[in-house]
Amino acid sequence: MSPFSYRDGVLHAEGVDLRAITREVGTPFYCYARAALTERYKAFNEAFAGVPHLLCFAMKTNSNQAVLTTLARLGAGMDVVSGGEIMRARAAGVPGERIVFSGVGKTRAEMALALRENILCFNVESEPELEALSGIASAMGVTARISVRVNPDVDALTHAKISTGTYANKFGVPISEAPRVYARAAALPGIEVTGVDMHIGSQIVELAPIEAACTRLADLARQLIAAGHRLTHIDVGGGLGVRYRADDADPPGPQAYAETILRHLGALGLKLIFEHGRLIAANAGILVSEVLYVKKGAAKTFVIVDAAMNDLVRPTLYEAWHEIVPVIAPAPDALHSHVDVVGPVCESGDYLAQNRALPPLKAGDLIGVLSAGAYGAVQAGTYNTRPLVPEVMVDGTRWATIRARPPVTALIDADNVPSWLAQD
Ligand SMILES: *Cc1c(COP(=O)(O)O)cnc(C)c1O
Repeated sequence: MSPFSYRDGVLHAEGVDLRAITREVGTPFYCYARAALTERYKAFNEAFAGVPHLLCFAMKTNSNQAVLTTLARLGAGMDVVSGGEIMRARAAGVPGERIVFSGVGKTRAEMALALRENILCFNVESEPELEALSGIASAMGVTARISVRVNPDVDALTHAKISTGTYANKFGVPISEAPRVYARAAALPGIEVTGVDMHIGSQIVELAPIEAACTRLADLARQLIAAGHRLTHIDVGGGLGVRYRADDADPPGPQAYAETILRHLGALGLKLIFEHGRLIAANAGILVSEVLYVKKGAAKTFVIVDAAMNDLVRPTLYEAWHEIVPVIAPAPDALHSHVDVVGPVCESGDYLAQNRALPPLKAGDLIGVLSAGAYGAVQAGTYNTRPLVPEVMVDGTRWATIRARPPVTALIDADNVPSWLAQD
């Protein structure tokens, strides 16, 4: 069930009229539904209810403190990819024992921070990283629990920019090398081998690649156990896809996913760790924007809105499709025409949708860009001196701003003009 639906002809987020939020916050803004985050988190956990597991929310998808707090209070762990994300997770009340740390370029300072927070596991992505971690942990007199992130060389059958599990990608250690790297890890001071890890990509809408990768991961786990490694968990990463287009089929849900995972990994008796982000957050969020102008060009009609690629980069970065709906429901017999929905930024790549059939829109109308709760606000920037887009959370009939729109003066004041330049 989408948390965004029409009530009396007006798009609501749960029980809140999006026009009411617009009046106070202004456009554009992101809006997240607490109930949808909760429901998706719980649905995933229910699918694995029978086995020890931990869902570590991939917080790079949406790291607003209110979103993290929502999930932390339900018992979620966090998959972090930077020291900053460790600090955000801790600030949201997530204990170190529910944090896993992924990423190919962990700095020494980030490793030290993670060790001070006594995190559950480092997902180590290379031998040089392993050596650095061993050195830091030894110097601090502590032990780093690790998994080696293995690259199973499986094509996730998704967009090239979000496929991570083949040998052409920078991620992980080739699975063929893994036994040797594990042997090395076990011999290093300050390192304790506790798991195996993979993450093959994002927006995966078929179970076949997951199944292929799980087969290889299970073989590796058995081989490592036979070699004497004391594994306690197996981390299968995230990547389960969601539906973006209303007329697409639903991708496999948590139940079908769980059935596949447990068939291959259930018998190992290890705790399962997951790193899903998009699955939890994508369809819990919407981006609301106002139409500024409708411009009829020689070849196309452009609906120019006040949200741009700096607010939501997915359409131009990943060729992503986001459903766009008017906030006021169109008449049932409204004629649709094909338009490009574009922002004000001075780039031809600045669009939210191209050649999209939409009902009539005019200046002042509000639109909602759906499925914007993951990889939306977190990827926003201030290009063209546009302040960071604000975020709002609804909960039933109440709502709150969870990140305000900063004033433009904050952007200007962040810069420093050297005195020698101002005075010359
Ligand atoms: C991005 C990422 C995830 C989350 O991917 P989703 O498709 O959002 O579930 C999980 N693990 C790692 C290591 C990642 O880089």
